[in-house]
Amino acid sequence: MNAPNKSGWKPEMNASEDGMHNGPATSTGNRALMLEEPLLFEIGNVETTGVDLPEPKADAPNRLGGMDRAEPIGLPGLSEPETVRHYTRLSRQNYGIDLGLFPLGSCTMKHNPRLNEKVARMPGFADVHPLQPVDTVRGAFEVINELAEWLISLTGMHGIAMSPKAGAHGELCGILCIRAALEARGDAREVILVPESAHGTNPATAAFAGYRVEDIPANADGRVDLEALKARLGPDIAGVMITNPNTCGLFERDMKAISDAVHDAGGFVYCDGANFNAIVGRVRPGDLGVDAMHINLHKTFSTPHGGGGPGSGPVVLSEALAPFGPLPYTARTRDGVVHLVEEEQADAFSQEHFGGKMQSFGRMTAFHGQMGMFTRALTYILSHGADGLKQVAEDAVLNANYILRSMEDLLHAPYAHSGPCMHEALFGDKGFGGDLSTLDLSKALIDEGYHPMTMYFPLVVHGAMLVEPTETESKAALDQFIQAFRTVAERAKAGDESMKQAPFYAPRRRLDETLAARKPKLAWEEGE
Ligand SMILES: *Cc1c(COP(=O)(O)O)cnc(C)c1O
Repeated sequence: MNAPNKSGWKPEMNASEDGMHNGPATSTGNRALMLEEPLLFEIGNVETTGVDLPEPKADAPNRLGGMDRAEPIGLPGLSEPETVRHYTRLSRQNYGIDLGLFPLGSCTMKHNPRLNEKVARMPGFADVHPLQPVDTVRGAFEVINELAEWLISLTGMHGIAMSPKAGAHGELCGILCIRAALEARGDAREVILVPESAHGTNPATAAFAGYRVEDIPANADGRVDLEALKARLGPDIAGVMITNPNTCGLFERDMKAISDAVHDAGGFVYCDGANFNAIVGRVRPGDLGVDAMHINLHKTFSTPHGGGGPGSGPVVLSEALAPFGPLPYTARTRDGVVHLVEEEQADAFSQEHFGGKMQSFGRMTAFHGQMGMFTRALTYILSHGADGLKQVAEDAVLNANYILRSMEDLLHAPYAHSGPCMHEALFGDKGFGGDLSTLDLSKALIDEGYHPMTMYFPLVVHGAMLVEPTETESKAALDQFIQAFRTVAERAKAGDESMKQAPFYAPRRRLDETLAARKPKLAWEEGE
């Protein structure tokens, strides 16, 4: 392959030139049946096209109103087979959930069932348009509403906002509900409390909504320090944002006591529900006093994420917050039909659900949310059933504990003493030899065939490695991963300096991540 190119693109140096793996360098940069691939701009040609359009008629009326393009657009052209090969070659350099175990902690990288995809592609779902007349999309409203009812009953909450498009967007929705509820009672509060171990989106959301963020310390067990929290509560505290299970992979056992204390002080409880996978079917956050919680459909309910698709972050709300949620929402009225409610109304449904006319903080999105994700999540829920969802949580926790107990003799496991973990196992870099780091271990894991785990998060553990296998991995798959993980952990403890050069076998070697972050090249320029 390796079409001639204009920019002087050269294949990356073969790893063998470092003497690091056997065999001579190849002249192309290709390795076995893995082909190197330049950028589209480097192989494409403005004169080439994959389509054959007729010349416009000379006497055709020009309706561009003087907006005719003055210069060529400069997009690279390729024939159809060249285009297909370009993207297929690139895809082979990628790692995905359909290739192997994806241990990213906090991300819940579970298998995306094919049944979900099949249902989402049914024309009645796939081809609906958000501007279609309401009467032609009744089925879509039924799907949204049925999913909403499932999420409400799984969480034991009162209401739900379906439109937020990701976890972080859901956090914003929940915090805006809290602010609207406080404003409605003329109570301007300024501070949101967030534990040290929180996901970065929590303090970012609170700050974005105009609150001052203060840390809540953790105790030696890795959980929220209840006494420290209670000591800080007062008339300036709008609420707390707590992740449960938390980002150390532990269940916050004092959640009910935390909620009671916050409510007594006039505040609200936001729960980051990104880790709901560990407790779905077993714990209802509503019973723990939670006022608002987002659910990542792209984590707990198996819809694709990352490069694979958009997220969806519905937010369940307590009775106190439901009247302040965003518009639009779906409502099944007395006639048995699901309606899309776009404006605050004083109808029977509002009376029953909001105790009167809604006082919505407004809209979060132009339309109703991520239809494709709703369809997939509902398919997942219905194919598991209530008993199956409970088993999801049990298997996810069992798998994570299997990893924790298989590694704790080798790797520092800071909270292993405080009992079983939930859905993810947390390790630190204590005891690594030489000046080896978590980054070196992760790069060596790539050579062993695995995408690395989440690194350096949560911040409370030095050189953190957060591993979340999810329930979709078999024992055989876990054993294979553990073998690779133990190998690189042993090398790190022994101070094997060659790890600093890893990865040796990946399509690209170690990148200058600082340069990439500080001076990202976001656009291709000719000759660069
Ligand atoms: C993933 C995650 C979020 C953010 O969710 P997005 O859908 O990525 O915006 C927030 N908190 C925790 C604990 C998470 O794991």
